[in-house]
Amino acid sequence: MSRIEPQPGIMQIALYEGGKSRIEGMSNVVKLSSNENPFGPSPAAQEAVKRTLHEMHRYPSTDHAELRAAIADVHGLDADRIICGVGSDEVLAMLCHAYAGPETEVIHTEHGFALYRIGALAAGAKPIEVPERERVTDVDSILAACTDATRLVFIANPNNPTGTMIGMAEIERLAENLPEQALLVLDGAYAEYVDSYDGGARLVEARENVVMTRTFSKLYGLGGMRVGWGYGPKAVIDVLNRVRGPFNLSLAALAAAEAAIRDTAYVEKSRGENARLRTWLSGALAEHGVPCDTSMANFVLARFADADEAGACDAYLQTQGLIVRRVTGYKLPNALRITVGDEPSCRRVAHCIGQFKAGAR
Ligand SMILES: *Cc1c(COP(=O)(O)O)cnc(C)c1O
Repeated sequence: MSRIEPQPGIMQIALYEGGKSRIEGMSNVVKLSSNENPFGPSPAAQEAVKRTLHEMHRYPSTDHAELRAAIADVHGLDADRIICGVGSDEVLAMLCHAYAGPETEVIHTEHGFALYRIGALAAGAKPIEVPERERVTDVDSILAACTDATRLVFIANPNNPTGTMIGMAEIERLAENLPEQALLVLDGAYAEYVDSYDGGARLVEARENVVMTRTFSKLYGLGGMRVGWGYGPKAVIDVLNRVRGPFNLSLAALAAAEAAIRDTAYVEKSRGENARLRTWLSGALAEHGVPCDTSMANFVLARFADADEAGACDAYLQTQGLIVRRVTGYKLPNALRITVGDEPSCRRVAHCIGQFKAGAR
C-alpha cells in the first residue's frame, strides 16, 4: 500500500462532468447543455483578443487594474473591492481555500451548483446540504443548518440548474442572521439576465459578511476565455489576493473581458433575446405537457413525469441532434436543463419534445 495519499476529502470529490458537446456520427448538432450565449462573444472582444497576439511573450497584468476599472465603471462599484479569477470558479475556490478547512462546514442548497461541494471538500471542509422548497432556496433551512463550524454559505441567485431566485429582502434576512464567523457568497453567474438586479452589490457594500461572484462565461459569451470576478468587503478581497496566483488571467482573457463589459449594446441585445426566447420556449414546452419553473436565467428546467421519461426524452433528442443536460447529479432525475439558444434552436428543441410526447421514440 502506498503511503502517498492526498489530503482527507479529496477522494470524495466526483469528477466534474461538463455538458456534452458531441454526438457520435452526427453533424449539425445543437448544443444546449452548457448555458452558453448562442450569439457568441461581442465582436469587440474578438478584436481585442487579436490585438494581444503580438504580445504573447509578455506577462499579463498581475493586479488586473484595467479590467477592474472597467467593471467598476460599468457597474458603479469600487474597483478596490473587486478580484478577478479564472472564471468565477476560481473565485469560489479561493473563498474555500481561504475561509474553509478541516473541522469547518460549508453550506449549500439541495440543488445548488456542484462546485460548492467540490470546493468545500478540496479545502478539507465538510459540505452541508440543506433542503430547498419546491426547487427554491429556503432561507430558514439554511439558518437552521448554521453552527459554530459554519464558515461559508453559498447560494446562486438565480440558481443553476433550477433557474429560480429569491428576493433581496430574503437575502438580507439571511445575511443578517448568519453566525458572526460565516460569510455569505452570492453567486451571480446569471445576474445579468435579471432586469434591474445588481447581483447583491449594494448588500456587499452595506455589510461585512457578503461576497458576490460574477462571470463572463454566460451572458458575455466568454466561457472559453475563463474570466470571472468577485466583489466583497475590502478585508476579504485582501485575503483572497494572498491566495490568488499572481498571473492567473492571461493577456487574451483580460483583453476579451474588458472589451466585452464595455460593449453594453451587445449585453442589452443578448439579455432581450434571451428573455423573449425563454418565454417562448417555456410556453411551447407547457403546451406539450412539460412544465418549467419560471426561470430568471438563460436556461429552463423542463420537468417530466419521472426519471425514465426524462432519460428517454434526452435519448430521443440526441437522435435528433440536440444536446441538453440531464441533472440527476443535482437530485433532479426527472428534469432536463435546456439552454435558451437562438430562435431556430428553441423551435427545434420544442418541436422535438412535442414529437417525443406524442409518442416518438
Ligand atoms: C456557470 C456557473 C458558474 C461559473 O462559471 P465560470 O465559467 O467559472 O465563471 C458559477 N456559478 C454558477 C451557478 C454557474 O452556473
